[in-house]
This record gives sequence, C-alpha cells and structure tokens, in this order.
Amino acid sequence: MPLPPEEIAGKYRNASPVQWGEHVSGTASRIASEGKEVALTFDACGGKKGSAMDRELLDFLRRERIPATFFLSGPWLEKNRETTRELGADPLFEIGNHGAEHRPLSVTGRSAYGIPGTESVSGAAREVEDNARFLEEITGRRPRYFRSGTNHYDEVAVRVAADLGHTSVSHSHNGDGGASYSKKKIADGLLSLRGGEIVLFHMNRPEGQTAEGLKEALPLLRKKGFRFVKLGDRPLVFEDGTSGPSAGKASSGPYGIIRGDSAFFTRRKGCQRRTEMMPWIQSCSKDGGTISPSGSPLKNLPRRQKAI
Ligand SMILES: [Zn+2]
Repeated sequence: MPLPPEEIAGKYRNASPVQWGEHVSGTASRIASEGKEVALTFDACGGKKGSAMDRELLDFLRRERIPATFFLSGPWLEKNRETTRELGADPLFEIGNHGAEHRPLSVTGRSAYGIPGTESVSGAAREVEDNARFLEEITGRRPRYFRSGTNHYDEVAVRVAADLGHTSVSHSHNGDGGASYSKKKIADGLLSLRGGEIVLFHMNRPEGQTAEGLKEALPLLRKKGFRFVKLGDRPLVFEDGTSGPSAGKASSGPYGIIRGDSAFFTRRKGCQRRTEMMPWIQSCSKDGGTISPSGSPLKNLPRRQKAI
C-alpha cells in the first residue's frame, strides 16, 4: 500500500541524494523480454512544452492496434480532460503519471534544461501524488508508473515515488528528442532496436514528425517480427547502481553499472538494499541486477543517446 504523503517527509528527513539524471538507482529503463518486444511510451508534457494531442499519432496506434503507455502531466490534463477519459477507457493503452507540474523530481531543487526541480521531499511527494489523484479522478484508476518532467530524478525522490506506489520509468531509447527529430532519424532509430527497449516519444506536439516516423518504421519492425507491449505487460528491468552510503562511487556512469569482481559484490549489496526499500516492485537476480516482479536478470545494456 502507498504510504500517506504526510509520513514520507519524516522518513527521508536525513537522506541526501548523490545521483542526478535520467538513469538513477530505482528507475526502470527496459522491459524483461527474451524476444523482439518493445514498449512504446509517449509523454504529454503540457505548458510551454505543448498541450496539444497528436491525433494523427493516436489514430495510427489505434488503426494498427499498437499498445502504448502514455505519461500525462497535470498541465496537459487540465487542457485535455475529455481526451484523458477517452485514453483511460481504451484497453489498448495504459496511463502513467508525468507529474503535477511537469518538474524534475528532486528533493533539493535541482533543475534540468532550465526547469527547476521539486525542492524538498514533500515537494517531490506532492508532484507525484497530486497528479496521481488528478488522474484517478478522471480515469477512475490510480497510475502505477511515473516519469518526471524532463525525465530527471535523484534517487531519494525515486524512493519517494515508490512509497506512493509508483515505479519510476526512464527509457533505453530516445525516440524523438522531445519531438524535435526528423522522420528519418525517428525511423532509423526505431529500426535499430533489438528488443527489450523502453522507447520515449512525445504525443503533445503534433507539429513534430513523431507520427510520421512511427508510421514509417513500425510496419517494418512488425515485418521483422517485433511486437509492442505496454509497461504493465512485462516485468521491468531497473537501472543498476548502489544507493545509501556507497552510492556516490557507483553513480558516475550513465547506468551506474559497476563491472568486475568487487563491483559485482557492491552491485549485489546495492540490489539487496534497494529491494529492502521497494520490495513490492523489485527483486535481485543472481548477479545483482534488479528485476520486477520476476523475469530475466539485468543484461549488459547499450550506451544511450544524449539526453534531451
Ligand atoms: Zn515531459
């Protein structure tokens, strides 16, 4: 059961984060799948980032019966209540939480791309919880997945989101660069997928070429044997790394992945610590990777593209 937001501030009174970015401990960036399966996710950011709905994209997904997960922010919800109700009622789709104010999720006010993050534990809790309630009010269902505005987190804030019943979701492939990529770049990127990726797109900027790129590449991917799934259809694979006192040593790489024998040991310990914190969303594999709720162990992950 999620912790009441008022209890969370006390719980993390002495916690100070050491990680910051798109891939911190506790965030999920891949699905556990042995085959050619990909999870397409679409953010609706709202505000200055655009509060429109890409109808061409939505029509295409429906026509082709392509499952997807949508992350909706509070500012976007304000302008699109009817569409949100419509999306929430469609079993082809899953609705995730993109934050009450579309802010980076921080307990210290760190910013990303000039957008100030939430400034405290209770601020981070409000960012998650307020929008969860807003979404539940409109769709009748509480979201299980969270992606922060700008997809930036610190690892304490990720634990706060977990206490509120949310798995924080990053990505392993940047699909459209904030809806700035050309059709060709989007299609080429999709055609390079191998399976297991969580792909990040945007659905709030119809002026971009996201729909065009998807229309080009998804039929070809299907011909190559790929299937598309929602986040809830598969266990998720979490970023590796450590949290707690030794976390600073492990947080330098894009994945915080540690290699080598001593690293393996640290990784295993880190995993055990994380599962103590979030037992309902993850467990440890033999080599110290995290899986949830059961599935394949974490494999070596590809290097990611530059963040947007
Ligand atoms: Zn966004």
